[in-house]
Amino acid sequence: MYAGQKIQIYPNKTMQKQLQDWFHYARFCYNKALDLRNQRYKDGLSTSYYDINNAMKVDKPLWQDSTKRYSSNVFDKAVKNMDQAWKNYFNYFNKLKLAKEGKGKYPGNKVGKPRFKSRRLHSTQCTIYRKNDYSIKITSRISKTGKKSSWLHVVNGFYDIKMAEPLAQSGKIKEVTLSRRASKWFASFSIELEDGWELPFKLDPSTVVGIDANKMHFDISRTDDKYKNSTVSQPVKKLEVLYRKIQHYDKLISRKRNQSTYNFRAPSNKYNAVRIKRQRAFYKIQCIQDDFLHKFTTDICEHYSTIGIETLDSSNMAKTKIGKKIYRSLFYRFRMQLTYKSKIYGNNLVKASKWFPSTQLCSECGYRRVKEEKLDTTQRVYHCPQCGAIINRDYNAALNLEMYAAGDITHDW
Ligand SMILES: [Zn+2]
Repeated sequence: MYAGQKIQIYPNKTMQKQLQDWFHYARFCYNKALDLRNQRYKDGLSTSYYDINNAMKVDKPLWQDSTKRYSSNVFDKAVKNMDQAWKNYFNYFNKLKLAKEGKGKYPGNKVGKPRFKSRRLHSTQCTIYRKNDYSIKITSRISKTGKKSSWLHVVNGFYDIKMAEPLAQSGKIKEVTLSRRASKWFASFSIELEDGWELPFKLDPSTVVGIDANKMHFDISRTDDKYKNSTVSQPVKKLEVLYRKIQHYDKLISRKRNQSTYNFRAPSNKYNAVRIKRQRAFYKIQCIQDDFLHKFTTDICEHYSTIGIETLDSSNMAKTKIGKKIYRSLFYRFRMQLTYKSKIYGNNLVKASKWFPSTQLCSECGYRRVKEEKLDTTQRVYHCPQCGAIINRDYNAALNLEMYAAGDITHDW
């Protein structure tokens, strides 16, 4: 079993330059390998990973910048990534072909043909894999004042990089992806967990919960001390401030040159300065949302063995007028996190069908509102014409989802 962890790192000036060089190098190797693969495919030659890798190594001194220090580890991984990208594309293509002939399921997300990566957009990360015991190492140091700190060592002959925190899991580090975002640096680890790894808690199999995802908040079918009024809301006020900031930066950016007058390729300094501020605001938003969502989904997975949620077509909904609100409401990330966490923790995640009318059903008697009776988005309270129940609209939906997950509603939609 594998675990992942992303940690902020603080490389010194030399290492920052070195990392940026590696990012450019990784992108360059990827493009070079892709070009070579396309050429070999046209000529009818073998396009396997090893053949491409070997063919590229032959004239490496010719195309590689000899004034800079690169790592063969970065090179290998970039070529491997290119190989994997083609494999993913072929897999998708074959599945689609079979599905069209009626021999299998339609594949989920669309996978496109591998494309060349642009210098401006894609020089932001590189991956270093475990070649031997020395390729990736983490050491701990103690300062004179007695403070402990963890240091990351990648590829021999370079400075160690300080990490913001130590790794949470022990095990073999399979690979580490170094990246840059909003002028901050990060390391994402992939760790192979040791055998005998166990969950620190046990789930009670009788616990069921239904969760209804709504604009900026989630409604759950329980009214515990933790979830007062049965809702959990995003820190809306904090986020609003940041969204307004971004709006302001957008305005500033549109008035600045995206090309310097002196250097054709580089953006102007003022443009860059605002762009980084804008990136930082986006990064802050993501941090706040991630913090909120991870805490919420982990708590749900730790306490309820059966979880009922809606199936929302968020990718299609995001294309509509309220797309921005849908995106900000984290529907997609919520479902994704629950899906992978429930696999780890062993929860039973029940996704109600797309046509399940969670808002239109009465959670007391099962009455279903149809046609003119249907609740529209402005009506926040559910009045039942059959049994007279008056319930909060979102809480009612969550209750319905709980019943659906528990198997009390068996009607098929
Ligand atoms: Zn009713």
